[in-house]
Amino acid sequence: MSSIFTRIVNGEIPCYKLAENDKYIAFLDINPIAKGHSLVLPKKETDYILDIEDEDFQGLFLFAKMVGKALGSCVPCERIGIAVIGLEVRHAHIHLIPINSVYDIDFKKAKLKFTHEEFMEIASKVTSLLASANSR
Ligand code: 5GP
Repeated sequence: MSSIFTRIVNGEIPCYKLAENDKYIAFLDINPIAKGHSLVLPKKETDYILDIEDEDFQGLFLFAKMVGKALGSCVPCERIGIAVIGLEVRHAHIHLIPINSVYDIDFKKAKLKFTHEEFMEIASKVTSLLASANSR
């Protein structure tokens, strides 16, 4: 059975998309532990991130770097924390989490709730910034 992320990639389930190309996609985590908490993943489904071929692994992290830089400019934070867990959704992905302290990356924390409009506002800030950077 396809992962929930493959179903998002295929457009069967909606997401607050930040960026995509033919190989990778980034969208907001639906149960964020921080405002702007995002996920970056290869469209091709692989369970374990360390099983991804070298070229795609490098590409994934470069894509995450591009998205993370934009995210860090759109959400007030000291920096973007990067984490890989992968125990809930078995489709390799990177978490990008705006942080101000080490305690901000705590997956046991109560999840934050945002309205559709709030998710949209974050996503549109990031997509606009990426669009303007790409047009330069
Ligand atoms: P992990 O597999 O790294 O432990 O966590 C999976 C992450 O995916 C969690 O942070 C969870 O909130 C997020 N997630 C699970 N299902 C969905 C979904 O349908 N949409 C989005 N945007 N995020 C999801």
